[in-house]
Amino acid sequence: MSISENLKKIKKSIPEKVLLVAVSKTKPVNDLKIAYRSGHLDFGENKIQELILKHETLPKNIRWHMIGHLQSNKVKYIASFVYLIHSVDSLKLIKEINKQGEKINRVINILLQVDISNDSTKYGFSLNEINKLLSDNIINNFNFVSLNGFMGMASFTSNFNIIENQFKSLSDLFEKHKSNHSLTMLSMGMSGDYKIAIKNNSNIIRLGSNIFGKRN
Ligand SMILES: *Cc1c(COP(=O)(O)O)cnc(C)c1O
Repeated sequence: MSISENLKKIKKSIPEKVLLVAVSKTKPVNDLKIAYRSGHLDFGENKIQELILKHETLPKNIRWHMIGHLQSNKVKYIASFVYLIHSVDSLKLIKEINKQGEKINRVINILLQVDISNDSTKYGFSLNEINKLLSDNIINNFNFVSLNGFMGMASFTSNFNIIENQFKSLSDLFEKHKSNHSLTMLSMGMSGDYKIAIKNNSNIIRLGSNIFGKRN
C-alpha cells in the first residue's frame, strides 16, 4: 500500500481524539511530501540535523515533533519552530528550553519522557523523579516552557502483558497529575504497540514503519 493509503487506513481505525504523528526519520523529503499532500501535518523526527533540514525544505504549516534524545546545546536550533518536544528527559534540558524560549519570546510545548521500560538503553525520568518534579512545582518556575503531558516507550518485546503494564503505569501517572498541571497529552504507542497504547489512554501515537515502510 502507498503512504497515503496507509495514513488513511490508520486514521480511520483510531479514535478521533488520538493524534497521529507520522515518524519520518531517515525517510526522504519526497515521502513526507506525499503524506503532506494527502493532508497530513504532524511529523516526528529524532535527529536535530534532519529535523532542521526537513523544516527548511518543506511547507511552513507542518507541525514538527521532536521525539528523539535532545542535547541541551542543540535546543537553540529548533526553538523557533518546533511544535512539541516529546523527549524532555532532564531538568537541565528544561532550563535550556526555557532560556531559548525567553530569548525569542516563545513558549515551547514539551512532554516529559518517562522511562517506563526499565531498559537501561532508554532515556527519561523515573516515575519517582516525575512525582518529585511535579509535586514540588519545580516545573512552574519556567515561563517559556509549557508542560503538556508525558511520553513513554514500552520495552521491545512480543509479550503484550509487559507492554500493557508499562503503558498502564504511565497512564496512572498521567491521571495522578493531570488536573493539578492541566496535562492534556499522553504520547505512547509506536507501530508495533499503538493499539495497546490507545486502550490505555494514549492520545498521541507515533508511527513510522506502518506509514512509510520499514527503515534500513
Ligand atoms: C522511531 C520512533 C518511533 C516510530 O517507530 P515505528 O516502530 O517505526 O513506528 C516512535 N517513537 C520514537 C521515539 C521513535 O524513535
